[in-house]
Amino acid sequence: MYRLIAPAKINLFLQIVGDYLPDPRYHELVMVMQAITLADGISLSPLSQEVIVLTCDHPQVPTNSHNLAYKAAALMQSQFPGQGGIEIHIDKRIPIGAGLAGGSADAAAVLVGLDILWDLGLTQGELQGLGGQLGADVPFCIGGGTALALGRGDDLTPLPDLDHVVLLLGKFTNISVSTPWAYQTYRQTYGASYAQTPVQQEKKRQQGGSRELLQALSQKDIPTLAQALHNDFEAIVLPEYPLVAQLRQAFVDAGAMAAMMSGSGPTVFAIAESQGQAETIKTQVQGQFADQGLDIWLAQTCPHGVRLVAQA
Ligand code: ATP
Repeated sequence: MYRLIAPAKINLFLQIVGDYLPDPRYHELVMVMQAITLADGISLSPLSQEVIVLTCDHPQVPTNSHNLAYKAAALMQSQFPGQGGIEIHIDKRIPIGAGLAGGSADAAAVLVGLDILWDLGLTQGELQGLGGQLGADVPFCIGGGTALALGRGDDLTPLPDLDHVVLLLGKFTNISVSTPWAYQTYRQTYGASYAQTPVQQEKKRQQGGSRELLQALSQKDIPTLAQALHNDFEAIVLPEYPLVAQLRQAFVDAGAMAAMMSGSGPTVFAIAESQGQAETIKTQVQGQFADQGLDIWLAQTCPHGVRLVAQA
């Protein structure tokens, strides 16, 4: 049995530049992705018959072929036939439909785990190529750490590690945001002003504010980085879910350096100066939203992606 951890991600920066010109069903993005210590646990055991059996301790997660981890195992079986079946168990710790790429992290762990279990010797680039067939966030989840993600979000460049930055993550149990809904609504609202040519897109990228964030990252200047956080999805998700906007404000009012929604939401993350301050902020904000089903997790930025943690 192999046990892996599959870290979630947050977006420190997310700009929607326009249509992805090679295929306008997608969007052209500028993202800075960051792995965090909040992670699912994935256990893999070989089976003699060529089947995939998946279990999960969370009742809302599908255990059939709709599960992205199942799809990852099926992709590996089709690419490397004759290796036998696989039993997958997911310890779900990453909230679902949260903008934290939980499903993508699980899929990434299955790709990495089967590469080890089947002794395939695939490179990270080869694993990321397979991951890209499953979803735009999967390639990032494999290597984790900090990365610039361009194109559809799968054109990755590693960035300097951002280690041990203390984070709070807040999500209301009964609010989930569908990523397709978020993209569709963004297109309906802002599509008319999308950059239409490579030159226009480059200009929009230059003006988008990523440069300030990248510079702060390279200097490990956390206060400046906190001020440079940006997420275009906030413009459509926050008006639709006022409670999420209130949570974002509550983190800042409680003393966080900055707070922002991750991905298409609705999770809001906040940067704290220390673990002690994070605990204080957590208590204050939880009190403010008592009876509204708010979960708050403490986490840190994490310099890696999927990791094998045990082999039995
Ligand atoms: P992203 O940030 O990539 O948009 P997310 O965090 O918003 O992802 P997920 O938690 O990955 O969303 O999953 C969204 C939906 O995908 C869920 O409603 C669930 O039905 C389905 N799903 C498929 N596989 C998984 C999985 N392994 N874990 C969680 N959800 C999964």
